[in-house]
Amino acid sequence: MLIGANWKMHKTVHESVDFFRALAADILLDLDVEVFICVPFTALWALSQASAAAGGWPIALGAQNVFWEDEGPYTGEVSPVMLRDSGCKYAIVGHSERRQKFSETAAHTAKKVAALLRNRVRPVLCIGETWEEKAKGITEQVLVRQLEPVFPMLRTEDLPECVFAYEPVWAIGTGRRASACQAAEAHRFIRLLLHDRFGVEAGERAKILYGGSVTEKNLSELLEIDELDGVFVGGASLEVQSFSTIIRRCAQRGTEGS
Ligand code: PEP
Repeated sequence: MLIGANWKMHKTVHESVDFFRALAADILLDLDVEVFICVPFTALWALSQASAAAGGWPIALGAQNVFWEDEGPYTGEVSPVMLRDSGCKYAIVGHSERRQKFSETAAHTAKKVAALLRNRVRPVLCIGETWEEKAKGITEQVLVRQLEPVFPMLRTEDLPECVFAYEPVWAIGTGRRASACQAAEAHRFIRLLLHDRFGVEAGERAKILYGGSVTEKNLSELLEIDELDGVFVGGASLEVQSFSTIIRRCAQRGTEGS
């Protein structure tokens, strides 16, 4: 299981370091899961340093965005080289908030994914339909529209490094999680697209996470889905207690072999 967190625009540097320290103390037990947290850019280097000083916390660092060039005259942007240099292992691409509020297009996300892979940072590509698109019954078309421009950027050997987060836009921050059945259907469809494009073996090696109003209270049903490789958590990752409960529950699922 891979468990990711998206802090969005929350937490100062000190709050971030305190959180990682507390979470690391809580999950130090040998849990068989991988955890990453996508923090604000400002906290990346401090977290890297604090982790190294503590002997390495079992929490990978992620960023919430990236630019597609390695360097140059792009005021205000952060490059994949800089992310890697700051200790980043993951970076979110194409979050619906960036698509909707910052006009990020599928062509932009494709270039960002390529830039991350080139720099050995794992892309966490967020895809998912709006409520209107779901109501029209075009979820699958939307997923294809979001994925197709990215596929030419991927080589078969990149698939184990790729994380796809199915995040229905209507579920993000709304408290309305997709049902297990809806999530399973979307995950199956995404997996099928990967099989078709890259072959079954490579397609199986990418991770597909569900994100959108996941909490420690509504996790059980989701964990029963075979198609789920993990979860991507926003609001419920901001408190150590709720996020560590989610991590433990996911780890239990792993040991139950479901
Ligand atoms: C997100 O924004 O990626 C997310 C999953 O948010 P939330 O869990 O708060 O719905």
